[in-house]
Amino acid sequence: MSAHPPTPPVTPDETDGTTGTAETADVRRFWQHLGLPGLIDVHTHFMPERVLHKVWAYFDALGPLTGGIEWPITYRAEEAERAALLRAFGVRAFTSMLYPHKPGMARWLNDWAADFARRTPDCLHTSTLFPEPGAADYVREAVENGARVFKAHVQVGAYDPSDEALDACWGLLAEAGIPVVVHCGSGPAPGKHTGPEPVARVLARHPRLRLIVAHMGMPEYEDFLDLAERYPEVRLDTTMAFTGFSERMAPFPRRALPRLAALGDRVLLGTDFPNIPYRYAHQLDVLADLGLGDDWLRAVCHDNAARLFGLPDAPHAPEPPA
Ligand SMILES: [Zn+2]
Repeated sequence: MSAHPPTPPVTPDETDGTTGTAETADVRRFWQHLGLPGLIDVHTHFMPERVLHKVWAYFDALGPLTGGIEWPITYRAEEAERAALLRAFGVRAFTSMLYPHKPGMARWLNDWAADFARRTPDCLHTSTLFPEPGAADYVREAVENGARVFKAHVQVGAYDPSDEALDACWGLLAEAGIPVVVHCGSGPAPGKHTGPEPVARVLARHPRLRLIVAHMGMPEYEDFLDLAERYPEVRLDTTMAFTGFSERMAPFPRRALPRLAALGDRVLLGTDFPNIPYRYAHQLDVLADLGLGDDWLRAVCHDNAARLFGLPDAPHAPEPPA
């Protein structure tokens, strides 16, 4: 990027009454302090407006699923405004995580996502899949069309990821080295096929699959750390983990922090923007609060994803005086 990012929209911040501009300064200070050229967020949601509004309606009604905890969406704004806000935060690259809940939907979502990536150059072209006839065909087409990352949602899709109909898809992605972010943990609510076992079956057959466990596998954190330790291409995204909101429901076990430190080259920043019930900067603050050090933060918030996606080098901000 040659120019400064556009001035962010000034939107009221629901949580503390500050403005979008003040929040932008907080986020930028975070990565500038680390000497990074920005952030890379592997888990953000952009999808057709009609679908996104349904997702928001789901979160609006979520109280009973999460034991009565409200889930107010902080960034309920127009698509262009949401992308501009990420840019203003200094997010160099992000994704458009989208996923079908039934057959016959993935191809249409993939067409939308390809178009979104064309008009949004800082979005990593994202695709999805579903166990259905023809899945391997549209996965292959998406790969040929330049898809950089896939998303699979085992809980919403209510399918077994080790379903035979997906086997060729995982094989294709493993072969192409294209990462797939999989929501396979049982948070915020368990599904019929969530938890570590179904994904472990996939990895047993496709050990080189670049599977990114969304939400650190919440709440089965340690089971998914086991998988990451066993398979060198398995990674974890931080999405919503360690936040005050998630810690109330599914606290990350402190005894597992050394394992998280040791896997520092395979943990990736993800946030769930815009569907989060707190400010974006909170996710960054709680990562820093883990106390794993600035090298760990630099890897997680930028360098690991830059390497994984082969992003061009960008000048790192000079180290601030101590
Ligand atoms: Zn998500």
